[in-house]
Amino acid sequence: MLTRENTRQIRVGGLALGGGAPVTVQSMCNTKTWDVEATVSQIGRLRAAGCDIVRIAVPDLRSAEAVAAIREKTDVPLVADIHFDYRIALAAIRAGASKIRINPGNIGAAWKVREVAEAALAAGVPLRIGVNGGSLSAALREKYGAPTPEALVESALGQAELLERCAFHDIVLSLKTSSVTDTIEAYRLAAAACSYPLHIGVTEAGDGYSGLIKNAIGIGALLADGIGDTLRVSMTADPVEEIRAGREILRMLGMDPRDGIEIVSCPPCGRTQIDLIGTAARFKEACAGIDTKGKHIKVAVMGCAVNGPGEARDADFGIAGGNGSAVFFRAGETVCGIKEDEIIDRLLAEVRAAIGEKAE
Ligand code: SF4
Repeated sequence: MLTRENTRQIRVGGLALGGGAPVTVQSMCNTKTWDVEATVSQIGRLRAAGCDIVRIAVPDLRSAEAVAAIREKTDVPLVADIHFDYRIALAAIRAGASKIRINPGNIGAAWKVREVAEAALAAGVPLRIGVNGGSLSAALREKYGAPTPEALVESALGQAELLERCAFHDIVLSLKTSSVTDTIEAYRLAAAACSYPLHIGVTEAGDGYSGLIKNAIGIGALLADGIGDTLRVSMTADPVEEIRAGREILRMLGMDPRDGIEIVSCPPCGRTQIDLIGTAARFKEACAGIDTKGKHIKVAVMGCAVNGPGEARDADFGIAGGNGSAVFFRAGETVCGIKEDEIIDRLLAEVRAAIGEKAE
């Protein structure tokens, strides 16, 4: 497994982050945080999809106070996203936030940063310094002419220094831009320059499709280098999609401690005589959020007898399509013929049996 073992390990609620701990996947609610019911409901959906850490926007004291009510209804590590006003950060820490995302540079006077650092230290709450290419300081923009990777790293390390001066070291850094190449370079520079755990991702990446591709390239390249301790796939889409994508990236790299279900299926092909695209999509949807408890389960959903039996025998189980029907395989053996409309239920029943769950 690829991990960057040398990062400082911190704790976010009950989760270890950095120092060789499994890479965690996070997303951000798009509800109004003061709407506790809506926020808790969305957190439930995120958890079901495999979210490890949830961030919530905390733009005012009303939202900070709602953290306590949300805290009572979920055990997920909660990150309060705060800008500008140190009093909101203090209120969120008091209300039970597990981590605070701030930019010390926009909190203002040094004494305000110190108050936040002291409160976070006393509460055992880490701080993420979230540097973003879109909100780089005017001084750094002028110095570098653009939000370059070097500018992002200088900003992050400069802000970390503000906290270090307060003897605060439970710091997570993120250095995001909407450019894949700049993001990769910024994180590589940061990884070489410090041992703080890194929250990785490509930000403002665009709609679901391009956001997914940008992040898969950026996050994938970094993780393959052993860089990254927690990740967010930023997409202009339902946050649940961000979690699915994040888990899939980890799974593809063999880094998901929950491992999961790997689906092997055919590309479009004129030979198939079942609705292969629809079947594979519905099966994938049905598998979303199933915790395989560390097991890697490979399922083949194949269109015909050309490559179908070979792939299905190589998988834990699978099907090879026929004419409105399929042959079902398990552990390399042909088991039986099934009708097309039985494929998904059969495969799901096999997944559940493989992880020791009883069929519903
Ligand atoms: Fe086409 Fe059959 Fe190969 Fe699938 S297994 S890609 S349906 S030839």
